[in-house]
Amino acid sequence: MERWNSNKSSELYGVSEWSGGYFGVAENGDMMVMPEPGAIDRAVSIHQITTGIRERGLDMPVLLRIENILDSQIKSLNETFQASMQELGYRGAFMGAYPIKVNQQQQVVEKITHFGSRYHHGLEAGSKAELIAAMGMLRDKNAVLICNGYKDEEFIDLGLNATKIGFNCILVVEMPDELPLIIERAKHLNAKPILGIRLKLTAQAGGHWAESGGERSIFGLNTRQVIQAVDLLKEAGMLHCLKMVHYHLGSQISNIREIRSAVNEACKVYAGLAKEGADVAYLDLGGGLAVDYDGSHSNFLSSRNYSLNEYCTDIVEAVMTSLDEEEVNHPTIITESGRALVAYYSLLLFNVLDVTRFQPEPLPAKLPEDGPPQLEYMMQALQSLTIRNIQEVFNDIIFYRDETRRLFQHGQISLRERSVAEQIFWKTLNEISRLAKDVKHLSADLADLDQILSDFYYCNFSVFQSLPDSWAIGQLFPIMPIHRLDEEPNRKAILADITCDCDGKIDQFIDKRGVKRYLPLHELKPYEEYNLGVFLVGAYQETLGDLHNLLGDTNVVTIRILDNGEYEFVSEQEGDTVADVLSYVEYDPKRLFIKFRNTAEQAVQSGKITAQERREIVQMYEAGLRGYTYFER
Ligand SMILES: *Cc1c(COP(=O)(O)O)cnc(C)c1O
Repeated sequence: MERWNSNKSSELYGVSEWSGGYFGVAENGDMMVMPEPGAIDRAVSIHQITTGIRERGLDMPVLLRIENILDSQIKSLNETFQASMQELGYRGAFMGAYPIKVNQQQQVVEKITHFGSRYHHGLEAGSKAELIAAMGMLRDKNAVLICNGYKDEEFIDLGLNATKIGFNCILVVEMPDELPLIIERAKHLNAKPILGIRLKLTAQAGGHWAESGGERSIFGLNTRQVIQAVDLLKEAGMLHCLKMVHYHLGSQISNIREIRSAVNEACKVYAGLAKEGADVAYLDLGGGLAVDYDGSHSNFLSSRNYSLNEYCTDIVEAVMTSLDEEEVNHPTIITESGRALVAYYSLLLFNVLDVTRFQPEPLPAKLPEDGPPQLEYMMQALQSLTIRNIQEVFNDIIFYRDETRRLFQHGQISLRERSVAEQIFWKTLNEISRLAKDVKHLSADLADLDQILSDFYYCNFSVFQSLPDSWAIGQLFPIMPIHRLDEEPNRKAILADITCDCDGKIDQFIDKRGVKRYLPLHELKPYEEYNLGVFLVGAYQETLGDLHNLLGDTNVVTIRILDNGEYEFVSEQEGDTVADVLSYVEYDPKRLFIKFRNTAEQAVQSGKITAQERREIVQMYEAGLRGYTYFER
């Protein structure tokens, strides 16, 4: 048999399918990250970075950002659109606008405006807070600043004032009632607004966020309301302010057909508005550009059935075809891609703390005397097992196991007898699972056996804090070890986090065909840390997460890979301390400390501890307040 090697690991975890060219496995078994797709000459070992982080005194879990990847993703979105336009002879331009909600962290938005400036990549804000952040961050007056979301007077005034000081700020009418207020405030502030209209399209997209688009979508104007808006603007002498048509179908649209049909519909409205006399110049297609998390290249929820190139070409072509028919000028195409820009740029690193193995112990040489007959039947089932009767033995063993449990509850068999029954049960399941490998068509019950017999790997992170979409909507992310990939991973595992919540686990993993019920992992080695990475977590995971069990923000480290293939630490942000998370839920850590010290003093008074012991205990409490919320070494 051929020895295991890193190529086999790469194949096993589907790395080249989901990595976007940014990740790979080195011959020595280390997971590598590259600054640009396929830049093997500048690949850096993630395992080495992790060691470096440890040496600098930061504990796991750590969110690692590689800023070159963000740079590269912005570049490829802009340049792929530009190339498609050039190739097809499009008479208009492309402009991107990053939607702040996808990852609002200052560091992220700052980098996007920095790397995006050479393409005039703008920002999209969906609330007052996001607009205020955007107005502070965006320097480039040629870039667009798009205001979506439900707007009150203050939001509208902020947007109008942004226009007055020179921002290319587009106020998008999301609800019919917003327009009269916008007209009134524009007159009051003597501002010339740039307006957009959000459409409610009939085209619907599938996926988790299907409700964002379609006629039943919450936001947007239907055709009747669009016409009313046109009339209102005409009446106010402001129809020339209407510059943009906008829609957003939803995020992670995995089917290119849905993208195309929405573009077609929006173009018809765009042409209609041009004919009504509006001075339209922008067509904003919202977000939706998907990420192939599972690498299946399909229209599965965690995937997409198109490449970036097809996405751009299909959109440009659809806009051209549609508007040429209507003899309307080609608009500047805007997209608000968020997920696709930032997902690849962050990964979550954590260590494994402990493992529970579901491995049967050797059976007793002899069954207990005068034991219940069920034990005998279970032994017979086990001994009769062959590849031809696995389903039958499986059914029998479950039946008798349930019966022994029932008898135990009625006091008819002893604790020791029941424990023997469980032992035979697990032994039999293991044997069945071993034989089932060679069976072509397994029943659903038997197909689940791999999961039932998987080990639990207890990992130093919180699903609720760091991977909320995994918990809330079953989103799949690529997960794998970041080292030892030249060794065969011969255990099957389910991951449990440290929240002690029964939902705090990951038991669904990416697979080229559907979903895998376990993750192949290595056995732990004594005294050696075993580290896993969850990849493509840059979008939506950071602020949707919550403080379940008061596990807070993780440490965040950003690196930059240099031209010579070395790398530098650009920034280190320490995660929340215990005092931080307590103050988020309204505790006053100082008061807690004083109260605790009093409690300890009472223990001294009543002779339970000495004054010296009090000092140590109080010091420990204080260090706890200052410490990390995760498991520390
Ligand atoms: C959420 C959102 C986006 C981002 O969508 P992605 O699929 O992450 O690119 C864009 N535009 C609007 C209006 C949104 O609400």
